[in-house]
Amino acid sequence: MFDGLVQWARAKSPWVCHLNCGSCNGCDIEIVAALMPRFDLERFGILLEGTPRHADVILATGPVTRQIRDRVIRVYEQTPEPKFVIAVGTCGVSGSPFAPSYSVLGGVDQAMPVNMYIPGCPPRPDAITYGVLKLLGSLDPAIAEVVATIESKQDTTGLVYTPQEMAAISES
Ligand code: SF4
Repeated sequence: MFDGLVQWARAKSPWVCHLNCGSCNGCDIEIVAALMPRFDLERFGILLEGTPRHADVILATGPVTRQIRDRVIRVYEQTPEPKFVIAVGTCGVSGSPFAPSYSVLGGVDQAMPVNMYIPGCPPRPDAITYGVLKLLGSLDPAIAEVVATIESKQDTTGLVYTPQEMAAISES
């Protein structure tokens, strides 16, 4: 019962921690825009949290460099379970166009497991909002209804990818 209560609370008010792994800041500005009143991620109970120790979701931007990889792993380990990672932006998704190179390993999944990928350079705030909601929709039926409404009103093809979809793309 307690686990159910924790899951309910997390789905109702997930706290997100914004982690820049080496981004040019383009994606970071779009994340800030998604959190500000115009797009208003907060209306879904999603709050920005300054420390990974109190966060449920890591919003990670930028390619993972050799220099920062260990710090990213440390941030992931500091985040309590259950935790989710969303890779935001093409750099966070695959490291492109900077990887592979002598200093850049690739996307965020080079350092920690990713639960949702949001491509784009940078992705729009509404795509970030959709990606976060789609991930949380797997925990909360009410948010899943919001996602279904969004999908019925606009074409969301290519806005976000699950790990399974990314694996299929990599194999093709
Ligand atoms: S995806 Fe584009 S905007 Fe985002 S960090 Fe990379 S270069 Fe910058």
